[in-house]
Amino acid sequence: MVVSCEQVWREISNYLEEDMEPGLRTSMEEHIRRCKRCTTVLDGTRNVVQLYGDERMFEVPLGFSQRLQRRLEENMPRSRRSFLGWMVATAAAVLVAGSFELGRSSVFSHSELRSEHAQPGTGVPPDMMVVVATDGKTFHAAGCPFIHDKAHLRTIAAQEALRQGYAPCVRCMRKYLNAG
Ligand SMILES: [Zn+2]
Ligand SMILES: [Zn+2]
Repeated sequence: MVVSCEQVWREISNYLEEDMEPGLRTSMEEHIRRCKRCTTVLDGTRNVVQLYGDERMFEVPLGFSQRLQRRLEENMPRSRRSFLGWMVATAAAVLVAGSFELGRSSVFSHSELRSEHAQPGTGVPPDMMVVVATDGKTFHAAGCPFIHDKAHLRTIAAQEALRQGYAPCVRCMRKYLNAG
């Protein structure tokens, strides 16, 4: 059986609690051994489970914002198991987003040079019209819900946005960024 990264993340809390059929477990072990991303997610998840899996799990660790604390309380489920599942899903999402962020900054670091000859290293079509906020650092597809400053928008070509040092929005530009 071949499992995808998404399947691994979905099943990861069962995996850690050793609550799954042996066939799937073997497939996951196989996948994780070869996949750096899933190895990172698994290690991170283990840490989270160690942090939250014990009796002190609702003590909010240092550095957690009040907003996150409120969200934790709102989402507090009835059983430890579903809490763990929720926490693990969140941790996996953060880890995946984090590694994506790292990859992005190396790919786009050259655009900070603003060189005449810089070739945008993205899958974003250079002539695609995108939206930038004057004070923002990212460019978006028109209508992206993650555009914050809707009052000062400009529409320019993607290659122009890259040349000016804007980075693609990881939400609305995702499909292009993954293409490469
Ligand atoms: Zn994987
Ligand atoms: Zn966007």
